Amino acid sequence: MNDLDLLELRSVSRRFGSFTAVDEVSLTVRPGARHAIIGPNGAGKSTLFGLISGTRPVSGGTILLDGQDVTRLPVHRRVGLGTAATFQHSSLFLRETVLENVLLAALLRTGTGLGGWRKVSARAAEIDRARSLLDRVGLPDRHDLMAGALSHGERRQLEVAVALATEPRLLLLDEPAAGMSPAETARLTELIAALPAEMTVLLVEHDLDMVFELADTVTVLHLGRHLITGTPDHVRASAEVQRAYLGT
Ligand code: ADP
Ligand code: MG
Repeated sequence: MNDLDLLELRSVSRRFGSFTAVDEVSLTVRPGARHAIIGPNGAGKSTLFGLISGTRPVSGGTILLDGQDVTRLPVHRRVGLGTAATFQHSSLFLRETVLENVLLAALLRTGTGLGGWRKVSARAAEIDRARSLLDRVGLPDRHDLMAGALSHGERRQLEVAVALATEPRLLLLDEPAAGMSPAETARLTELIAALPAEMTVLLVEHDLDMVFELADTVTVLHLGRHLITGTPDHVRASAEVQRAYLGT
């Protein structure tokens, strides 16, 4: 591994029974990258994200974060090391308010537990931070609604706020624009473009306009396998990719 990589996957695999959803994928992601992972439905993108975030165990291979082997670490330990994810299928608490969803994630970050949380000053600071995050993702007038009352697009925005509340070094976004209106997608694209440069972003997205606007590096998965990684121009021009993915 290169000393400078934030994330390294070494021959990572995931099998479901006899079916191999992720097949010996090796990949490095440097700090500050805007790295997109694309590929047809069923290519293994969401499964791969599950392996990185820790919601699914690997069947084989090694995952290194900052050179540290995190392959067997549970989700909360990886969050502690700076990994945060939005999931293709929502993981919000629909019967809590929008603000509370963000605060719960912030609680995970501070790791102080409910004891520390009772300090009024600490709590006030967290609430301020959560409110400004919600404004940033485009939900300024939704703080006190139940998360379950949000529209589909608004839920995706809230998921991004929840992920950002843990102040991750590595942010995994799994189809954040799915189901969004063009206006919501445009706002989300702006938000991702404006994230701190040192934050590393791994993005799975079907909206290729968004991918090619945001990404500095693109990986194509196909049938669970790593097909190619390169600059957006390089990937777009690859004959292999055109055949396998873009269907031209
Ligand atoms: P993508 O996100 O690229 O569309 P997924 O990672 O969701 O692909 O799925 C990759 C493959 O693994 C698909 O064929 C899917 O049906 C299969 N798969 C995903 N999760 C499971 C599961 N829990 N059990 C069995 N097969 C699964
Ligand atoms: Mg998926």
